[in-house]
Amino acid sequence: VAEYEDGAWQNLRVEPYGPMQINPANATLHYGQSVFEGLKAYRNEAGELLVFRGDANQRRLNESAARMCIPEVPEEVFMEGMRKLLEVDREWVPRQPGCSLYIRPFIFAADDYLGIRPSRKYTFMILTSPVGKYYAKPVAVKVETQYARAIEGGTGSAKAAGNYAGSLFPALKAQKEGYDQLLWTDGKTHQYIEESGTMNVMFVINGTLITAPTTTGTILKGITRDSVLILAREMGFPVEERFLPVRELEESLLSGTLEEAFGTGTAATVAFIHLINIHGKDYLLPEKSTNAFSDRILKTLDDIKYGKVADERGWIMK
Ligand code: PMP
Repeated sequence: VAEYEDGAWQNLRVEPYGPMQINPANATLHYGQSVFEGLKAYRNEAGELLVFRGDANQRRLNESAARMCIPEVPEEVFMEGMRKLLEVDREWVPRQPGCSLYIRPFIFAADDYLGIRPSRKYTFMILTSPVGKYYAKPVAVKVETQYARAIEGGTGSAKAAGNYAGSLFPALKAQKEGYDQLLWTDGKTHQYIEESGTMNVMFVINGTLITAPTTTGTILKGITRDSVLILAREMGFPVEERFLPVRELEESLLSGTLEEAFGTGTAATVAFIHLINIHGKDYLLPEKSTNAFSDRILKTLDDIKYGKVADERGWIMK
């Protein structure tokens, strides 16, 4: 925990998990001035906890904060908070395979007032919890063409709490229909695939990896997405960062040129997609080949995260 008051972050400390007091007029409760991050630490053979790309999460937290008029959390405060927590957590994170430590940094307005203006006080917290695998089996997704997750000029590229609140209603509707996740399309024409609710999405069509660019400000700049693109390019795998039309996705399913589809995210790592619903029609994906790109990339990522291979890219913090 750290508090922002009089222009500075202060009082950095570790507290046991438990309830906290909040005033009914707390600005976050009313106006949603709140941003967060999600990252993980993995235990290596020697028993140490390795944090994957924590610096990237720190930068993204501050980018989100800037969009929501929240003051930056300096790198030293973020890293010092993480270090203090890892010291405590090192002792009790289970040693089971597949288990990791989920780390949730977040910042929220701490002023008590009714009225629309940025808060003058904020609280920064990091919450941790051991987790297992997110999706045990391949997921079924539905292309959403009625509701929008983000629009150009909005807050889609920020990891802002309200983005998730607005997504609940359509996501729940899809779940009731039997789908695990939505594939969001652009908020204007609903003709191009953007991302899913908790993951960026990637497609292998005719041997090329295709994923939406993050230049429009409507898509979260996923750190797993970035890692997969870096590794794919290193492997010499053809990559195209471009908007995939829903129509092209449907044609690739009909003609059999869609080889793989998967989501990428901290929680899910790589989540294989086995079914896509487009305009009310379910399409099953073909069986994955034994040398599937998504399987290879998942293994490469896991080897780096669990410290099984050398950290050539500076992605690991102990
Ligand atoms: N998109 C959204 C909307 C998300 O919530 C997440 C999870 N943070 C992602 C993509 C994936 O981002 P990352 O790989 O950094 O976890």
